[in-house]
Amino acid sequence: MKASTFRILPLPTEIAEAARHAVEAGASDHAIVRASSPGSSPCRHCLRWAQPGERVILFPYAAIPSGHPYSETGPIFVHANECQRYSATNEYPADFRNRRVSRAYDAKYKIIDAQIVNGSEPEVVIETLFQNPDTAFVDVRSVTHGCFTFRVQRG
Ligand SMILES: [Zn+2]
Repeated sequence: MKASTFRILPLPTEIAEAARHAVEAGASDHAIVRASSPGSSPCRHCLRWAQPGERVILFPYAAIPSGHPYSETGPIFVHANECQRYSATNEYPADFRNRRVSRAYDAKYKIIDAQIVNGSEPEVVIETLFQNPDTAFVDVRSVTHGCFTFRVQRG
C-alpha cells in the first residue's frame, strides 16, 4: 500500500479547550447541546459522531479567516467533555466517508474546485484535488448543512 498523499488536520486541541472554557464562562455564542441521534453532531476534535445523549458544544468557527472574499465562519460541534484529538492523520476518518463535499482552496483561501464525496472513495477525490498544483488545502464539509468538518493538507 502506498503512503497516503494527504494529512488530516483535526481541530486543534486549544480551540476545543477554549470552547469548553467559553461555555463555562457563559459565552452567548457557545451552547451545550445533547446529541439527539447518531450522525447528528460530529466532533471536529476527535472526528467521531457524538453518541445520542452525549453533550457537545455548538459554537462558531472561522474555518476560512476573515479578510478574504471567501472568508467563512460557521457552526461546529466539539465534545463538551475532554476527548482525544484524531491521531490517524494519514487515514481518512471512517465516520465521514459519506455525505461530504471536498472543497479545494488555493494559498489565498480562494475556492478553486469542489467535489462531492458520496459513494465515491474520499481518498480518490482528495488525491484528484491535490493533482492541481494550485491546491493548498482541502476542506471537508457536510454536503447537507455546509458545516466545516475537517481540513486536509498535502502529505
Ligand atoms: Zn470529540
